[in-house]
Amino acid sequence: MPGDDKKAKARAREVNELSLKHHLSHALAACNSILKKESPSLRDDLLIDLDKRMRAALQGKTAYAHLIKEKAEICSAFENLQIYVGYLKSAKQSGYTVYEGGKLVIYLPEGLLEKAVSKGSYQDPVKELRKLMAHELGHAILHTKDIMRIKAAVGGELVKDGKAGSALLKDEKESEAKVFGTTLLDLRHKRNMQMIKDGTLVKFF
Ligand SMILES: [Zn+2]
Repeated sequence: MPGDDKKAKARAREVNELSLKHHLSHALAACNSILKKESPSLRDDLLIDLDKRMRAALQGKTAYAHLIKEKAEICSAFENLQIYVGYLKSAKQSGYTVYEGGKLVIYLPEGLLEKAVSKGSYQDPVKELRKLMAHELGHAILHTKDIMRIKAAVGGELVKDGKAGSALLKDEKESEAKVFGTTLLDLRHKRNMQMIKDGTLVKFF
């Protein structure tokens, strides 16, 4: 099934617009304000889903204590659902997004960060980190419910054979995150170029 590219592009435009309003153009802050706004409906969708699973467990007379725990976790997570960024030591140069401890966490490879801040060879790692971050932000706000449901499906055992959270999403979600990431970076690049032209961009790298 192809991904919804139109939705991914519209999302990237929305984040770009919002990030312009945030000082220093933080797309992460923009995504968090979108999540805050959409939290009530995301929470309700997940709770409806959970109620269905509870009813099925009651009818089938199977254990449901873990579902009650999950419901409490969802309610408390949505009091202040936010995206955080962490760095992990990993041989792979890829990122992923998980739902853990009531938070959405984007993990990026620590090795790339070290290269990005060390002198001499920072240009490509910086670009690569930005690309990974834009892609994972796409997962975090396009696929929030899916990422939170994956935790339920695998019982909290997220990291398995190097796959975790966003890495477990289906192909169409992967293509949506790609479209979101490239659209967001493209919009930011165009804005930066315009600011260079206008002479309003003081620091650009
Ligand atoms: Zn992805």
